[in-house]
Amino acid sequence: MTPYGDPVVIELINTGAELLLGRILNTHQQWICRQLSDRGYEVQRQLTVDDSASAIEAAVAEALVRADVVITTGGLGPTCDDRTRERVAALLGRRLVHREEVVDQIRAYFARFGRPMPERTKVEALVPEGATILTNAHGTAPGLAIPANPRPEAEDRRPAWVIQLPGPPRELRPMFTEYVLPLLEREFPLSEPHFSRTWRTSGIGESFLEERLEGPLRPYLEKGLDLGFCARVGEVEVRLEARGADGAARIAAAAPVIEAEVGESIFGEGDELLEMAVVRRLSSMGKTVALAESCTGGLLAHRLTNVPGCSSVFLAGYVTYANASKCRMLGVSEETLRENGAVSEAVAREMAEGAREDAGADYALAITGIAGPGGATLNKPVGTVYMALSSAAGTVVRHHLNALDRETFKFLTTQQAMMMLWRELSRTTRPPT
Ligand code: ATP
Ligand code: MG
Repeated sequence: MTPYGDPVVIELINTGAELLLGRILNTHQQWICRQLSDRGYEVQRQLTVDDSASAIEAAVAEALVRADVVITTGGLGPTCDDRTRERVAALLGRRLVHREEVVDQIRAYFARFGRPMPERTKVEALVPEGATILTNAHGTAPGLAIPANPRPEAEDRRPAWVIQLPGPPRELRPMFTEYVLPLLEREFPLSEPHFSRTWRTSGIGESFLEERLEGPLRPYLEKGLDLGFCARVGEVEVRLEARGADGAARIAAAAPVIEAEVGESIFGEGDELLEMAVVRRLSSMGKTVALAESCTGGLLAHRLTNVPGCSSVFLAGYVTYANASKCRMLGVSEETLRENGAVSEAVAREMAEGAREDAGADYALAITGIAGPGGATLNKPVGTVYMALSSAAGTVVRHHLNALDRETFKFLTTQQAMMMLWRELSRTTRPPT
């Protein structure tokens, strides 16, 4: 047990007028909540306030009535709209003390870029008495962790902490991982260890997954396992969670059920993206791939080349948007185009075969479709897509109807094409049964 009982009450306050004006997306909310929930902690409440002094102070004061940990983001910089440091110190009755070691760190940070330190960044070296400094390796303003004991306005006198983090994600994230998580685990250890495992699937809907897994998993869930699903464009996550010393064993016992029921739709675990799984599998097999894209405009090549190590498996990507390019670069015949139209099974097939031959790849994927909103015909509505996979074993073509906005259409289509390849690679590597 924690000395104060579970759950640890964590509240998150994101500050910044730009968040409320809809100018930037509050990615801290998602990222921090995810980091915490992966470790068995839960954020009970999240609030966004503008950066006025009164709004920040009121929000932190109110949160401290309930919370064991209050995390604030933003407003630690040197400009006049950065008020979090000063207001929280005032609320907690802490004097701000100038800390020369922070000035040294800030000066060193500017020196790395050959720039002098602006005088006004010195305000970032003001640290509330009793606060722990969370060093900022990627910026100037350090984060701060302040014990709030006693908590203003709270009836009990449980110790709480206010943790202040800077706004820029590239500063906040490493600081959170390096300092905040260990602090939390030290000050508020969970009463029971927390375990989780996530499988990533594609090509099967959330409700079908649930239908397939519900029955076979029931005996395991009854022994104290939580099953969760999270659907995104072109994929669904399946997640098992357990608390308690034997949590890992309970998850391990249920894992084969998931793999047996929906294994053919699973491409990875944890944070692995489909493109990572495809590159990993191709490279372990020593195989190569080429791409021929029309309506996805190179997105599939982009996604694959986001993966480090892609150069050992990816030979070429042809973005052949115009019919003439399909003929010239991929050898698609004019007659096939004339008879079937560019969005057709026959053209997808010739695109894949042409790409495979021209690049000398083991596999080639081709995509041709109608992203919309224009371009539909009587037999080919917006969202019609043909995708082909060519290999030494021959060429297979699949048809999908992805009637979505252009961006989602492109993403989902690349997801389906990669899944086609993934399934083929899994089939050829799976031992015969
Ligand atoms: P700086 O020294 O850059 O002023 P700061 O700690 O004062 O840092 P803010 O001024 O509140 O932080 O935010 C700086 C920038 O960080 C914002 O312009 C925005 O780009 C990004 N940012 C702030 N909050 C968030 C958030 N919740 N989600 C995503 N990005 C954010
Ligand atoms: Mg700022």
